[in-house]
Amino acid sequence: MWSMLERRTRAIWRAAIILALAGASAIALREVVLSSTFQLFGDYVARVDTPERVVALTFDDGPSPYWTPKFLSALAARQVRATFFMMGRNVERYPSVAREVLTRGHEIGNHSYSHEPWFHLYSDERIEEELDRTENAIEAATGRRPTAFRGPGYSLSKPLLHQLATRGFYNEKLDQILVEVLLGVR
Ligand SMILES: [Zn+2]
Repeated sequence: MWSMLERRTRAIWRAAIILALAGASAIALREVVLSSTFQLFGDYVARVDTPERVVALTFDDGPSPYWTPKFLSALAARQVRATFFMMGRNVERYPSVAREVLTRGHEIGNHSYSHEPWFHLYSDERIEEELDRTENAIEAATGRRPTAFRGPGYSLSKPLLHQLATRGFYNEKLDQILVEVLLGVR
């Protein structure tokens, strides 16, 4: 038989272990969610009709001093142009890498500042701030403001689409997405 003290100590230990495990899994989940390749909300595919069969090549989450030059070399060897959706935070860290992408003839898109998959749940102000910071970082690095946007984890929301529309991103494709979101198709 355990004494009261022993029993209480065991209970405390058990609680401490459960808390520690909960803490560990919360940290693990946060790591996974914050890793820029993780997509919480599945795929969103935009299709554009063209007279020829074309594929739009895109690279997300850079610029990276390690990966981006490798992609640039591979693209140059095949004479292919692509769009690089960049995170504002990374553009601020590696502006020369971002500049090199534009110099090589590729397009740069806004991929949010901090790449949080719950971007679509942000308030209007927060969305605006994320878009602004990233656009400013890209412009500071390359001299050009981006004209393309891709949400982190492909996240979309009505406030986000309205923000994009007011920034001149409004086009047929966006219109279609907006209609789908408004109708709850998505
Ligand atoms: Zn991404």
